Amino acid sequence: MASLRHDCCEALLADMVSYDTVNGHISGRSDAEAPLTEYLEAVAGAMGLATRRLPLAGDSANLLVTHERAANAPWLLFESHLDTVTVAGMTIEPFAARVEGGRVWGRGACDTKGTGAAMLWALHDYANSGGGDTNVAIAFTVDEEIGKSGVRALTGPQWSQLGWRPVGAVIGEPTLLQPVVAHNGIARWKIHTHGVAAHSGDPSRGRSAITMMLRVIDVLEQRYAPSLHQRHPLTGKAQCSVNVIRGGNQVNVIAAHCEIEVDRRVVPGEDPATVVPAVESLLEELRREHPGLVVEQGQAYLDPPLDPAGGEALADGVGQVLTDLGLPAEPAGVYYGTDASQFSAIGVPAVVLGPGSIEQAHTKDEWLAIDQLHCGVQVYGRLMQTDWRGLR
Ligand SMILES: [Zn+2]
Repeated sequence: MASLRHDCCEALLADMVSYDTVNGHISGRSDAEAPLTEYLEAVAGAMGLATRRLPLAGDSANLLVTHERAANAPWLLFESHLDTVTVAGMTIEPFAARVEGGRVWGRGACDTKGTGAAMLWALHDYANSGGGDTNVAIAFTVDEEIGKSGVRALTGPQWSQLGWRPVGAVIGEPTLLQPVVAHNGIARWKIHTHGVAAHSGDPSRGRSAITMMLRVIDVLEQRYAPSLHQRHPLTGKAQCSVNVIRGGNQVNVIAAHCEIEVDRRVVPGEDPATVVPAVESLLEELRREHPGLVVEQGQAYLDPPLDPAGGEALADGVGQVLTDLGLPAEPAGVYYGTDASQFSAIGVPAVVLGPGSIEQAHTKDEWLAIDQLHCGVQVYGRLMQTDWRGLR
């Protein structure tokens, strides 16, 4: 049974891991994180911290834990997501939360309940200490792994309800406590071709959606992808690939429909909203070259890049704390996306920083090293004590 008071951060983390919070889009449970949210609300309350639920649709809610030092002090926001990826294929008990061999084992231990436990533990220490003039909030958000509805609500409709604007956001993901200041964004969408079904005994009576799609893929691979020259020093080059194809439904029928799924990685400085219109103009050329070719693009899923521009002062402050603790402070870029880009998209500088390695995230035997966790508590604690007034 999860307890409200713990004598160490790893015990808190083990309790958090014992809650099954597999993302609702995977598990089919719409409020997958709710029992853990309720539990953290009680733990934070027992620590003497203020809590507030920020409701989304259904029973789902982000949880805000705060410690306000002074009415005019700057706010620093920490964020950590509560959902996890699937437990399918795991070789350890996903929710047994075993603490053994210097590690906490289980789904979410590394990605990213470890960061959440370390943030809460650090805030408890900070609230009980005398030093520091920073107001601190931790947002525990839902649905990061699939829909990003938690952070989208927080940085969207819930933002004005906070009553303050943070000078920066520290996003908890496993970075081995190295500051990540840049990552690529995503545009992901479907393209459909529509043909005419006919008996395969006389293909001339139909029009194959598969043949049409071959031309579309050719345009994407031979014209569009090679035209992408955008680069960022920390995240590499813009990319585009076609990774799913479906078409036809019977071997003796000319295919009436075919669809592909396209994945485009945008680098910091690019706007993902410009991707589909750019492809549309190439498809327009294709329609002119091949009268009768019917192609249309679906609605895109867009996730902005994390752009380090504008976040230099926050990154410098974080780097100083890491240097003081004898840790590597070189700002890095990564290939994966995080909630950080949603903050940078609304003009709040954001850094991704947390204990544990991305190499253990989403794995069959996920774990977090306890000394990383303790180091995380120390780093987050120093960030809370740092004077951020210069950032306003
Ligand atoms: Zn994560």
